[in-house]
Amino acid sequence: MTEDAGVGSLKGTVAVVTGGASPHGIGRATARLLVARGAHVVVGDVQDDAGQALEAELGHSLIYRHLDVSSEADWASLMDAVIDRFGNVTALVSCAGIALDGTIESTPMADHDRVIAIDQTGVWLGIRAVAPSMRSAGGGSIVNISSVAGAVGQPCLGSYSAAKWAVRGITRQAASELADSGIRVNTVLPGFIDTMMGGQGADQRESLRLNKGHSGATVPMGRIGEPEEVARLVAFLVSAESSYCTGADFVIDGGLLAGPLAEAADWG
Ligand code: NAP
Repeated sequence: MTEDAGVGSLKGTVAVVTGGASPHGIGRATARLLVARGAHVVVGDVQDDAGQALEAELGHSLIYRHLDVSSEADWASLMDAVIDRFGNVTALVSCAGIALDGTIESTPMADHDRVIAIDQTGVWLGIRAVAPSMRSAGGGSIVNISSVAGAVGQPCLGSYSAAKWAVRGITRQAASELADSGIRVNTVLPGFIDTMMGGQGADQRESLRLNKGHSGATVPMGRIGEPEEVARLVAFLVSAESSYCTGADFVIDGGLLAGPLAEAADWG
């Protein structure tokens, strides 16, 4: 399970990955890749069975701890566990998230509050929790997972889109606050990715594979993305290969935000 210790090596990295237990999720693919590149990883999630199974598989380099990212007390316990097992944290990948359908008018306030608590406040609490440890370590890298929904309005995902826009703002704020502590903070904006969230249900997954996304949007590259493709971008941002990147957005969407693919025939 180890890759070449050269370019992109994460030997010596201690990473926290939230939302990293979900089978086929972006967080799990990221946790696996970070371990493969030499990092020690702590996965925090609410899917305890899946997380414990991952720990059993990768136990020397990865531990699982229950973490509700919207709970400050959970973050404090997680940090105690990480420091006790692996030492100071040098990377945080905030991947935990939920998406609930609804427009601004139709979303019940309890649903809105839940999405904001997990997708937005969870990212903010994560930065608060790890920053002192990263400072003690002499620096680190934080990667916050937003979405293409954080770059446009997303019909019927009102609270999710608002939270994902906020993640980009939190990233810029944290990048400016933490740069002089040697801590870089960046955002990743995935498009349609083949996970449970990206395509819930067999029909929708098939539809996405056939290049018909949510709301009829089409992907110029003609396919849905794989969690491992997002994981490679995250690993780059965690590693010293991205040493001059901070406060920035990194889109990984097969060209979705570039706009609809022009029909070649129309260009004569
Ligand atoms: P996923 O497979 O559903 O993974 C998300 C994980 O976060 C799940 O294990 C989920 O548990 C967990 N979680 C939910 N609430 C939590 C909480 N309060 N504390 C800790 N963990 C919690 O989703 P994914 O597709 O990999 O998404 C990962 C990230 O990428 C999310 O932030 C998502 O918004 C973003 N993203 C995904 C796509 C896509 O197409 N897949 C596109 C753009 C952005 P439960 O399953 O129990 O809720």
